[in-house]
Amino acid sequence: MSSIQLKNIVKKYGDGFPAVNDVSLDIADGEFMILVGPSGCGKSTLLRMVVGLEDITSGDLEINGKRVNDLAPRDRNLAMVFQNYALYPHLTVFENIAFPLRLSKGTHSEDEIQRKVREASKMLELDDHLDRKPGNLSGGQRQRVAMGRAIVREADAFLFDEPLSNLDAKLRGQMRTEIARMQRRLGITTIYVTHDQTEAMTLGDRVAVLKKGVLQQCASPRELYEQPVNLFVAGFIGSPPMNFVPARVEGDQLRLPFVSVPMTPQLAADVKGKDVVIVGIRPEYIKDAEVNPVSGGATFRALVDQTEWLGNEQYAYIPFEQDSSVQGHLDNLEKELDGEGARSQIVVNLDARSQIFEGDEVEFAFDPAHMHVFDPESGHNYT
Ligand code: ATP
Repeated sequence: MSSIQLKNIVKKYGDGFPAVNDVSLDIADGEFMILVGPSGCGKSTLLRMVVGLEDITSGDLEINGKRVNDLAPRDRNLAMVFQNYALYPHLTVFENIAFPLRLSKGTHSEDEIQRKVREASKMLELDDHLDRKPGNLSGGQRQRVAMGRAIVREADAFLFDEPLSNLDAKLRGQMRTEIARMQRRLGITTIYVTHDQTEAMTLGDRVAVLKKGVLQQCASPRELYEQPVNLFVAGFIGSPPMNFVPARVEGDQLRLPFVSVPMTPQLAADVKGKDVVIVGIRPEYIKDAEVNPVSGGATFRALVDQTEWLGNEQYAYIPFEQDSSVQGHLDNLEKELDGEGARSQIVVNLDARSQIFEGDEVEFAFDPAHMHVFDPESGHNYT
């Protein structure tokens, strides 16, 4: 069992822009840590530095308090579980799991190998399949064989690099649940790289969000969702994404596209001197006022130009006109969101009881306490 510390880790390829820029993370014994972010944010590079496949330009990597920057991958005792599981098709499940023990010749007696493989396969519920070949296993079982190999080696940690990215949605869902269950049961420290926010939110004890090599926030899934530190994290976590609208600061009020809302004295003090801020509100916090009145909330009437009904919920899309005086801030918003797109429409996640159709003018309500208010330049969340 082990903890892993990353201290001010930097990776530069050649003399270019750092692919990983001053990242510090403290991964506790038994913790499931997710590294997530859009393509090119440096998450794979970070994982490859931990496992030893990439040199660290500067900073310290420690396992159980011992600096391992200069240790060869095989001496770090970490188990990388690859996307294709790297199983040998001609070997049985037993022999695949036993492989690392047989590789270190003479170190393990046959009895010991038998015992370790049987113990691991029991934990992984593979004991009925020990004579099968990988070709006759489901994707989930293959994944478990790969994990079994890491267990018999008594690896200090599992490292996964996008293990589910080639699978279809249904299998991906099943495997995700399976990995979560196994990791909890085994309690092995795990670092898992993904660009998929559903995997990040469902698997991680904590999730580290990266953007262009820089760590934005590392927190529990709930904290990331409810208290994103900046625009980027707010826009990256959540589906459909948080709505962002530019708002004019007018005294102690914020003027949004359809409605003005009062600010708390603290918020008014924080945004003092700003003309414009970006207001974020998640689609589920805007309600159809007729079905879900929000007591003391702000209300506005707006035209719905599209609806999507999914059975248990529905989405309504409300277009709005951008005030031309905020264009510069919108360009910045686009940049901050890293191409996720500043949208000139508001998405509302309604419960399935709402009878709303395209072309309807509807009264909506929301509690201003659910608004996030961001600095349009730095992206900092004031709320
Ligand atoms: P993806 O999800 O697309 O795999 P990622 O977040 O894992 O992306 P990395 O693969 O870590 O990102 O890459 C981070 C940055 O470093 C990118 O800008 C990439 O182009 C650059 N990079 C990665 N490997 C190398 C390399 N061997 N030489 C030069 N630049 C590299």
